[in-house]
Amino acid sequence: MNFKNILIILFIIFSYSLFADGHIFVYHRFGDNRFTSSNISISTLRKHFDYLKNNNYKVVSLKNMVSKIKNNEEIPDNWVAFTIDDAYKSFYNNGLPVFKEYNYPFTLFANTEPIIGKYPDFVTFEELRDISKYGEVATHSHSHQHSLNISTNVLLNDIKKSVNILEKELNKKINYYSHPYGEYDYNILNYLKNLNFQAIFNQNSGAISNKNNIYDLNRIALGENDNIEFWLNIKYLIARWNNIEIKNNSITNINVTLNNSIKQIEVYISGYGWKWYNLNNGILNINLNKPLLYSRNRIILRTKDNKWNNYLIVK
Ligand SMILES: [Zn+2]
Repeated sequence: MNFKNILIILFIIFSYSLFADGHIFVYHRFGDNRFTSSNISISTLRKHFDYLKNNNYKVVSLKNMVSKIKNNEEIPDNWVAFTIDDAYKSFYNNGLPVFKEYNYPFTLFANTEPIIGKYPDFVTFEELRDISKYGEVATHSHSHQHSLNISTNVLLNDIKKSVNILEKELNKKINYYSHPYGEYDYNILNYLKNLNFQAIFNQNSGAISNKNNIYDLNRIALGENDNIEFWLNIKYLIARWNNIEIKNNSITNINVTLNNSIKQIEVYISGYGWKWYNLNNGILNINLNKPLLYSRNRIILRTKDNKWNNYLIVK
């Protein structure tokens, strides 16, 4: 093999490790500086979009991303999809014109109660019909409740109600659901699977690969101070969460199976930061006693080569 071929092969290996899996992002409010954590200024939104444009990323529809997973095909490393939660007026007034300008597809997850109630901060159905000319509309429930505070039946009926309203108003099929506040547990997911959605989306910081559960797809929330380049570089970690033991409101055991080749992993627990642990034949088994400090608590696993996986515990 000559030197040039070696260089080409090295370049291919290097490029492969440089890029990550696909990524789905979620925004909430646009150019609405009454809010800090849920808002993105239009100048920062343009910076995100320009970064993608200048670095050979391809913004695809959620439908394209989902069909790759369903067909068990590799997701191209440069694929990105955008979603918006909550159907705020500020998306229609400030965000949509920028999406149109860049010709970027998007999916808007709308909660229908504030639209029916004509809340001033939310879009009208007429505006929603206009939005649906440029992107897809999906559901974010009707009344946007904390799903673990209500019975499963109330939750399922609330979601079905929003689907009926949206399908009637838009005359289009509603294919996707995203959890209000990003809150859910694995028991709720089992019920939601029966609602015939094509896919269900969380709000966990992880990448997208065809190994992802179609009913538990990661979406990375982007706010004003988030570095999109950082998030584009994270990859998907295949992990089987065998046991998360909660006793007296504390995490007492974490047991996860990972690839055999992984010897060490960094573990994040909300409120406690990151810590390295050794694995035994690909198994992470930690006994600990960490009180759950928040209403939403995350356990995140991160490998040396920046692969991530998440587990959400809602109190
Ligand atoms: Zn929401």
